Amino acid sequence: MLSEFDLIKQYFARPRAGRATLGIGDDCALLTPAPGLQTAISSDMLVEGRHFFAGADARKLGHKSLAVNLSDLAAMGARPVAFTLALALPAAERGWLAGFADGLFALADAHGCELIGGDTTKGPLNICITVFGELAPGEALRRAAARAGDDIWISGTLGDARLALAGYRAELALDAASLEQAAARMHTPTPRLALGTALARAGLAHAAIDISDGLTGDLGHILAASRVGATLDVDALPAGPALARQPLELRRRFTAAGGDDYELCFTAPAGARAAILALAAGAATPVTRVGRIDAAPGLRLVDGAARPLDLQLEGFDHFKS
Ligand code: ADP
Ligand code: MG
Repeated sequence: MLSEFDLIKQYFARPRAGRATLGIGDDCALLTPAPGLQTAISSDMLVEGRHFFAGADARKLGHKSLAVNLSDLAAMGARPVAFTLALALPAAERGWLAGFADGLFALADAHGCELIGGDTTKGPLNICITVFGELAPGEALRRAAARAGDDIWISGTLGDARLALAGYRAELALDAASLEQAAARMHTPTPRLALGTALARAGLAHAAIDISDGLTGDLGHILAASRVGATLDVDALPAGPALARQPLELRRRFTAAGGDDYELCFTAPAGARAAILALAAGAATPVTRVGRIDAAPGLRLVDGAARPLDLQLEGFDHFKS
């Protein structure tokens, strides 16, 4: 049997590589902030049966639990530094732990983000990560910073994770190839750090948010915080490759309010269009212009011909569903 401390030592303590002054092993980790920089901090919890199915692949779970946290740093424009991991496990299974640690550290190493501590306990499977990032004062892309006249931009594509969920729930019939393609987006999202940090550094974007609960809901947070409204061209929303093969009505619903996308939605002045396309190309991240911020409150959905669109949409809310 693995003891709690053997488990931490074997699977989570690694040779020191990052920025922490003191990592795993003491009562606290010690981080020395880089002179003149601010620390960005965010936590996200993944609960079995809520955020992932029981029996989910451990490696993918390791990736996703860190990816959703890094996505918050990306949305703020912060560069990753370190993270902590609080883990409740029903049992100390070596195969599961090895897979989870593999997926987790592959992504952590790709972004130079060091695991500096955490907590481990027995209990229903629950994974909570807190990430620490850094950025210069004034760089952060805040939700409250959108301005009337801004363009609304989206990175990557939307809706494939929601399509996979529909496939798993048998809400619709999905061929095996489409389900596999869509499921890749659900299980292994890509945090858009290159784009988010470049936008913040360049000072090109005003507001930003990462899309976790569905675009219209998350854009709604920007609108509320910034006290503005928006017009969103639903037919301009880029659908994921699997969703792109589905009928128009489904494409519209799942791109506008799918959830689990982990793309960035950001606003920027219309004069910055060319600079944003160049910056996005430099970050190897496709971006699409999908609407504009209005002074009038409310979110107006329109189709490709700018006609009002009446879509029955529901963003995700844990206490409503
Ligand atoms: P304490 O009881 O003082 O809170 P613990 O015994 O829980 O300390 O943890 C011992 C050390 O191992 C601490 O440095 C803690 O941060 C680290 N740790 C515990 N669980 C994890 C984990 N899942 N991943 C990384 N570090 C962990
Ligand atoms: Mg502890």
